[in-house]
Order: sequence, then structure tokens, then C-alpha cells
Amino acid sequence: MKKHYESLLLDSDGLRQGDVRLSWLGTAGTFISDGETGILIDPYVSRFRISAVAFRFPLKPDRTLIRNWVEKLGRGKINAVIVSHSHFDHVADAPYFAIETDAPLIGTESTINVGRGTGIDESKLLPVKPGQTMQFGNFTVKFIESVHGPALLGRIPFPGTIDEPLIPPAAAGKYRLGGVFALLITHPAGIILHHGSAGFKPGMYDGIAADVLLLGISGRGNTDQYLENVALQSRAKLVVPIHVDNFFKPLEDGMAFLPTVKFGEFCRKAEKYRAIFMIRTLPFCKEIKILPLNPSPATNANMR
Ligand SMILES: [Zn+2]
Repeated sequence: MKKHYESLLLDSDGLRQGDVRLSWLGTAGTFISDGETGILIDPYVSRFRISAVAFRFPLKPDRTLIRNWVEKLGRGKINAVIVSHSHFDHVADAPYFAIETDAPLIGTESTINVGRGTGIDESKLLPVKPGQTMQFGNFTVKFIESVHGPALLGRIPFPGTIDEPLIPPAAAGKYRLGGVFALLITHPAGIILHHGSAGFKPGMYDGIAADVLLLGISGRGNTDQYLENVALQSRAKLVVPIHVDNFFKPLEDGMAFLPTVKFGEFCRKAEKYRAIFMIRTLPFCKEIKILPLNPSPATNANMR
């Protein structure tokens, strides 16, 4: 199945000035930039071991690794750090990316409390509510209310909110869900929808027409329903699975699937929609071109 994943990889071919490019940091972590403005979403590179998470050890974000990533992405090129929900694999490193880059940390009140716990200046903490939009350069980001996938034996892990500053190191269970956002990112080159957790609210994408859907597929329930309510409803032409990797292993070990991700089943179920959207995958830690889409990508669809 890894071979199939690799056969679908996007690349940086034909990248021109002003195009929108994307670097995948693993999990739902994506850096989206047009060369002028950069938006970092859910950056999580510390990748704590499964034993540390399971045995409720305090989790200490790896500041050196975070600093290295900031250098790699471009210290002055990160203008916003956005968090889609406040589980550790989305939020734990985000405040430190904000501190390193002097960019604002943006998310729910729970995310803001994770930021407070790291001592970020209050002026750099921007809480957002569902339905709100924010402008960063030529990017407009709309925060759409979503729900978490049933990731843990059919249940949402660590529900609830973080109601006071969360001072790290803290156990995984302290990183409570808060709310969940999907992010509709509009740019003159096209529209990207970041759907980082595999739940959905029926009708949440009524009236939306995205070009690219970054689709978190780990911890999803019924794949058919998920595809119908998110991929079809958002009218995406290109669907890019994210949150597929085993995030209990270090990034430098390379991409390995999270055992529960069932990538083959996802592709088989998606195949019936090949005339509507195509599926492409992201390389680990490498910049690719994401927008504008090539003309009529669906006609080039090649699922095999
Ligand atoms: Zn989560």
C-alpha cells in the first residue's frame, strides 16, 4: 500500500512565482505559502512515543526540532500559526512555532490556553469563533465548525475544553479537544480546504466549492459517508489525504502509515468518484505545488 501511496505523490513541477505551495510536516501539519505570506497549520514535529502518550508521561515539546523546522520553512515567512483543535498532535508544538517566528497563535479558547501556558505575549494570542474569517496577505481563512472523528475505538479521545493555561510538559490527556475547525483558505490562485480531523457536520459545506481538499483520514468512521459529506459536498477537484502517518515515530524515520488508517480501503471507496475528484498524496517534508490546479484534473485522474 505504501507503493500505491508513493505512486500518487504530488511534486513541485511547473512551480511559478505567485503559485501556492505546500509543505507537509506529517499529521495534519501543513505550511501553505504563496512566497509572500505563509500560514502554518497544526505543526507537530515532536512526535512523542506511543509509550509516553499511553502511560501519561508529561510531554515535552522538542524546541530544537521546532527551531530546525522554522529554519527549514523560513523564519520570516511564517505569518500565522493556526490550530484546528487542541489535541496534542495538533497543538503541543504550535505555541513554540509562534514564539520562534513572532507570528500569532490562532484557534479556540482551549488552544489559546495552551499558548498562555508557554508564556506567549497576550497580544499574540488570537481566539477565533466558528464562522469568523481572517486575512493574511492574499489568503482569507474562514473557520468552519466541524467535529472530531471517532478515533479511539469509536470514541472521541480527550473530550472537553482546556479552561486554564496549560503549562508543559503535560500528559496527553490534558490536551483536551476544545472545538474543531475546518479551514477554508481562499487565495487568488484557488481554494484549499483543510479538514484535519475525520468527523463532519452534515451540511457544513453547503454552498462551498473548494479546489483542493486536505483530508484527515485517520480515525474516520464510515468511509462512504465521510467521502459523501466532505469530499463531494465541498466539491473538491483534488483530494489529498493527510494525517495518514504514524506520528509516534520520528519524522526522520520517513513516512509509515498509522496502522488504523486503512489507506487501501479509502482509495477503493474513493475510486467510484474518479470522474469528480482525483486523489494525490504528499511527500514527507518537501515543498510541492498545490495551486493553481492544472486544467481539468479530474480528466487526468489515475487512481491505479
Ligand atoms: Zn484529535
